[in-house]
Amino acid sequence: MNPDSQEPSKLLAWSDCMPPTPPIGTVVGTACGGTVQFVATTPCVYYRGQPVYFCLPICKAGLESDPRNSCLALNTGR
Ligand SMILES: [Zn+2]
Repeated sequence: MNPDSQEPSKLLAWSDCMPPTPPIGTVVGTACGGTVQFVATTPCVYYRGQPVYFCLPICKAGLESDPRNSCLALNTGR
C-alpha cells in the first residue's frame, strides 16, 4: 500500500523510519545529496515508500519545520 503515490499534491508526506535499519557503518545517501555512514542516531524517514537518511538531526528538523525548503524537497526537485 502506498497512499502517497495517489496524492502527488500532498505536501511531502513522510513518516519516521522503523526497524529494520541498515547495519551500522553502511554508507547511505542522504536527503541533502551526500552520503553518511549509518549509525544508530542517523535520522531517517520514509518518503514515497523509501527510507531517506539525513546527515544531521538538524536536516530532519528542517523537514519537520519547513518541508518545502528542506533538503529533501530541494533534492527531490518537486
Ligand atoms: Zn543534511
